[in-house]
Amino acid sequence: SCILAIETSCDETSVAVVKDGCEVLSSVIASQIETHKAFGGVVPEVASRKHVESITLIIEQAVAEAGIEMKDLSAIAVTQGPGLVGALLVGVMAAKSLAFALGKPLIGTHHIAGHIYANRFVGDIAYPCMALVVSGGHTELVYMKDEGSFELIGRTRDDAVGEAYDKVARALGFPYPGGPHVDRMALEAEEVVDLPRVWLEPDSYDFSFSGLKSAVLNVVNQSKMRGEDVRTEAIARGFQESVVEVLVEKAVRAVKAYDAKQLLLCGGVAANRGLRQALSERCGQEGIPLTIPPFQYCTDNGAMIAAAAHLKWKRESFTPLDMKADPQMSLEFWAEH
Ligand code: ATP
Ligand code: MG
Ligand code: FE
Repeated sequence: SCILAIETSCDETSVAVVKDGCEVLSSVIASQIETHKAFGGVVPEVASRKHVESITLIIEQAVAEAGIEMKDLSAIAVTQGPGLVGALLVGVMAAKSLAFALGKPLIGTHHIAGHIYANRFVGDIAYPCMALVVSGGHTELVYMKDEGSFELIGRTRDDAVGEAYDKVARALGFPYPGGPHVDRMALEAEEVVDLPRVWLEPDSYDFSFSGLKSAVLNVVNQSKMRGEDVRTEAIARGFQESVVEVLVEKAVRAVKAYDAKQLLLCGGVAANRGLRQALSERCGQEGIPLTIPPFQYCTDNGAMIAAAAHLKWKRESFTPLDMKADPQMSLEFWAEH
């Protein structure tokens, strides 16, 4: 198959063409970061307008770079949800128009299934497996018995990891999105500020990061009140070490408890070097096969949407042209429809 996929759930306008769910023929990612930076975060209305401005050109560019013609496409895939409704709508309208005009099937796709299946760009996936999803809006442990089956066994009770990274970064004076800045500071730091680990109940696979975030804000505010320098690097390192320790520990425990054959890391925070390194080391010690998508497929991209859409393509499970963007779509719902 040759699937063209459109992703506009947040602040990246991205279109990719992917062969057989694993071979990326083209991947165009237009980030709106520069536009949103001035506001310190994503402004939904601005995101929608930006998507509208660029979507047509980006589709054309992705097709041209893939070295194919529109008529060679097998299907048009699009992120149906979850995400910002106005932003999703732009991609959904573009995908419907394209599918209708070309007479090709449409495949509405789940954004997080996309993040998970970005691991197909690394190799085949062995089931049952466990996915650790760490992104701007999600922090989840997903048990996958078979291909395309999803069982949420743990989730964040408050902030998502990426969200916590962005808020901590902001308190430390870095621009949106702050994750990469905190990552860099943490790895450069020579000292570390000790911060709490939040484990919740001993048997829980849930997460909580708002307490840690508040602890960081307290340390920052205390320094400012005393007129001392904020220990930016040491705080970043303390924060990252706390986050990474909890994520690694819970993911490894889940893999063992569910007898998973493999651990898949995914989502924007999977680009975090501290996490990639710590998880690789620990999985190495435990003998757990781990896959992590290449950096460019960790944050939002159309290629991962095509990889997930390929599951539906194989089952000829297509989406009617009158489908709607679903900003709250769950993984389980997507799997069953
Ligand atoms: P979701 O996928 O849950 O809908 P999203 O699509 O907005 O949310 P992603 O694109 O998957 O989020 O990831 C973006 C997040 O990843 C941001 O919060 C960003 O700070 C974070 N991030 C990116 N790189 C790094 C890094 N190196 N270290 C930590 N966080 C990072
Ligand atoms: Mg983004
Ligand atoms: Fe995402």
